Amino acid sequence: ARTPLIAGNWKMNLDHLQAVAFVQKLHWTLKDAAHEDGSVEVAVFPPFTDIRTVQTLIDADKISFALGAQDISSHDSGAYTGEISGAFLSKLSCGYVIIGHSERREYHAESDEVVAAKVQAALRHGVVPVICVGETAEDLEKFGASAVPAGQLEVALSGVAADAEIVVAYEPVWAIGSGQAATPQQAQDVCAKLREVIASKMGADAAAKTRVLYGGSVKSANIASFMREPDVDGALVGGASLVADEFAAIIRFQK
Ligand code: 13P
Repeated sequence: ARTPLIAGNWKMNLDHLQAVAFVQKLHWTLKDAAHEDGSVEVAVFPPFTDIRTVQTLIDADKISFALGAQDISSHDSGAYTGEISGAFLSKLSCGYVIIGHSERREYHAESDEVVAAKVQAALRHGVVPVICVGETAEDLEKFGASAVPAGQLEVALSGVAADAEIVVAYEPVWAIGSGQAATPQQAQDVCAKLREVIASKMGADAAAKTRVLYGGSVKSANIASFMREPDVDGALVGGASLVADEFAAIIRFQK
């Protein structure tokens, strides 16, 4: 069985001081929650400038949250001003990195090929890529829900070994920050399609093991409906991951 993953993408929110207060509050709010016994995995994705602070806090207080970054360079080191290497992330105990979020695809012109190169960079450094795919409202109208995300994932998985650990996140662009989440059935349909893509690129074992998340206006009021779907293995949460009580309620979802 796949362990559900509830991931909080902070985006460009919370400076390192606010991050300390937030992580402490979330930790105390969650005392005795399911993630303490390993039945749910929780991961937080702070801005780069907070990662060291959050890592220290997690270590000092033995907090059972995984840590991730929101982006990675496709290069390992060298003259790439402003970029962050996967080597740096793994040294800071980042287990995960979000790659190909629609905001990076849109505002930083990240192509499917750039996303694929970043996936390779993460895997080279032992960081699990959280590969984001999703269609815009226009794509949805023209091609239906699954064609664009399935195509994005195909390219992202080029050259990925059958035994590589990856996470896939289906985030329809129209559902991000809009308050208009996909229906559980829509999420299930596309997540099942993405699992087929994983099977075709990496094999049946990888497809059975890999967690496929849904993201886009997830909140405590709708998380359970997504988690009931067989191919939805967790959530990538934006806005609601910044409110400790709300994110804690999402983590405590009941099927
Ligand atoms: P919201 O949860 O704010 O819709 O954002 C989703 C998202 O983009 C997570 O990566």
